[in-house]
Amino acid sequence: MILIKQARVLDPEDRGVLDVLVAGKRVFAMAPAIPPPQVPGVEVDVLDGSGCFLIPGLVDGLVHISGGGGEGGFAGRTLPLPAAEALAAGVTTVIGCLGTDAITRTHSDLLATARALEAQGVSALCLTGSYALPPPTLTGSVERDLVLIPEMIGLGEVALADHRGSQPGWRELAAAAAESRRGGMLAGKRGTVLLHLGDGRDPLALVEAVIEKSEIPRNQFLPTHCNRSPHTFEAACIYGRAGGNLDFTTSTTKAFIDAGEIPAGQALARALAAGVAPERLTLSSDAQASLPAFGKDQEMTDFQVADIASLWQAVRSAVLKHDVPLKAAIAAVTRNPARIFGLNDRGQIGVHQRADLLLVEQETLELSVTISGGRVRWQH
Ligand code: ZN
Repeated sequence: MILIKQARVLDPEDRGVLDVLVAGKRVFAMAPAIPPPQVPGVEVDVLDGSGCFLIPGLVDGLVHISGGGGEGGFAGRTLPLPAAEALAAGVTTVIGCLGTDAITRTHSDLLATARALEAQGVSALCLTGSYALPPPTLTGSVERDLVLIPEMIGLGEVALADHRGSQPGWRELAAAAAESRRGGMLAGKRGTVLLHLGDGRDPLALVEAVIEKSEIPRNQFLPTHCNRSPHTFEAACIYGRAGGNLDFTTSTTKAFIDAGEIPAGQALARALAAGVAPERLTLSSDAQASLPAFGKDQEMTDFQVADIASLWQAVRSAVLKHDVPLKAAIAAVTRNPARIFGLNDRGQIGVHQRADLLLVEQETLELSVTISGGRVRWQH
């Protein structure tokens, strides 16, 4: 058991200063004062939470857990995500997927990586498919993958408005989304379709066509990289104001920002100011993606790997530099992604919820302790 004393609980609503008792993998009790339980043979680890916020463990909706990249040839392939990096970054749930490369990267490997992370204390789910439509799958169809594979909860990241995508039409996107929706329903999942938005001119036109011409609802989709350029951001805000969910990518480089990318903390502030409802907004790290920069002759001039630590750093930047309310910033990496991906047992702090919890210094918003699956997995 773990007893966290006198932290200010942001679940992400402000619940005031409470004691929180963890038993096994779940939160067992929350109250203004809980004495350490006396259970023969059971040790109680008492943590002093005074001066700290207690917030839900972060839910990172896009991580190339088994490695990504490869767009610059084999030398540009990136390594899998180490569990220790996620835990030190406060991330207790990752949603893994393939990207551009669905040839040397496979769903078998993705699933095995998710299971390895799970064994090391990071809860890991997966998406079937990849950039391409029709989607590559593990069992032969998106629907079968979602029904038969417990870890598979949706489809993506499907590339739209990108030269690396399969240039689908609206019917192909609608058909894939329908399979994800139906498979999800049969398995009690949301079947969310994560959409990678590229640099193309009208990045959400195809999604709007699906919503208009088919029976697939807007909330089946989560477009990501919505901060990659000013015109993508503007289109995304229109989509968000119409009730769509939006995701901003937190990992970036100086070259990306020089080319027009809006840093995620700033994008969050601007989307809220533009009238997008706070519950529609999420952040994800895109960790282990390659971040290449190209010169004027398309030669690679820089190569970096997206870092999972960028997720919490973007929250800190949103709050400390861009005046985003703490509740909205925390919700964007906890409650909102958990709800959008249909993970009902996390993303908030409550009795019977998963004991995925972070202690954060109130003054600096520095991470102090990561509890994942009811165990202290990292301490500053
Ligand atoms: Zn992407």
